[in-house]
Amino acid sequence: MDTSVLVIYTGGTIGMKQNEKTGTLVPFDFAEIEKEVPELKKFKYKLDTHSFKNPIDSSNVEPSFWANLATIIKNNYDLYDGFVILHGTDTMSYSASALSFMLENLNKPIIFTGSQLPIDSIRTDGKENILSAIEIAASQCGGKPIVPEVCIFFENKLFRGNRTTKHSAENFNAFRSYNYPALAESGVEIKYNLPAIAKPKSHKVLKIYTEMDTSVTGLKIFPGINCDFIDNILNMKGLKGIVIETFGSGNTPTSEKFLAKFKRAIDNGLIALNISQCQVGSVEMERYETGILFKKTGVICGRDMTFEAAITKLSFLLANNKTFTEVKDKIQKSLRGEIS
Ligand code: ASP
Repeated sequence: MDTSVLVIYTGGTIGMKQNEKTGTLVPFDFAEIEKEVPELKKFKYKLDTHSFKNPIDSSNVEPSFWANLATIIKNNYDLYDGFVILHGTDTMSYSASALSFMLENLNKPIIFTGSQLPIDSIRTDGKENILSAIEIAASQCGGKPIVPEVCIFFENKLFRGNRTTKHSAENFNAFRSYNYPALAESGVEIKYNLPAIAKPKSHKVLKIYTEMDTSVTGLKIFPGINCDFIDNILNMKGLKGIVIETFGSGNTPTSEKFLAKFKRAIDNGLIALNISQCQVGSVEMERYETGILFKKTGVICGRDMTFEAAITKLSFLLANNKTFTEVKDKIQKSLRGEIS
């Protein structure tokens, strides 16, 4: 039987055109992409497309969009060997992280890609990205998919999606995975980094989760941060979880006033996760006194998780676990290879 890939088009620059009146880029339909990439017809695979009715700029992505994507994948899971998701770059790392949590027992490739220049521009990066992403989604070894993970392919690298961050608004290599190696690199050939690729843990059927709890927020610490503002944030009605971006290896100011705000909120049931503002490396709260004192407030160590992975994981766990203890326990563990 032919290898088969489903291309899901959600929007993003790859399919955008200039609005003649305003000069801004707005999403167009998939027919434009097909017209610009005749090479799609050269693949020997069975290639189908599922186009979102109203393609979006990915800045408008919401959890309901992820639930929709997870459902499309579930409904088509047995019909295709792999999936390519065309998506805007702005929030691609959030979507790839969220999907990695929402799809349990995944054993097929889900490859996100997009472009920095629209597909109809002469120097577009979209063509290369979409063609290589399809090739990767279809790649098998001994009848098994080579990359059974949620990934991002961009320019010439394939990354584990929940390890990525959009790091450039202008370069073609828009994504980085600072704390985990690339899963593949494409040149004349696509070279896979096999030891880095996750092996499916079980042969259970794919299970999807479509609920995310949005009672979460993020907070970036900076010198001079106003403790009264922190107090207001931590005491927001309905807040259940917060991802705090701290200095270096997880350090914060140590004034009594600052630490007391966190201690009280955490004692009252808030889940607070400590990740670093540095992109390379990990939170280690025992390294400095400033970290140890913050740890004593009850904050949880998020080690080397990206902000994108941490916030989507928190939303996912809060929506799908009954107790705070379960959430606290799972947030520190690797669910889909998102934490070292
Ligand atoms: N604003 C666009 C989006 O994220 C940017 C892109 O696709 O590169 O949809």
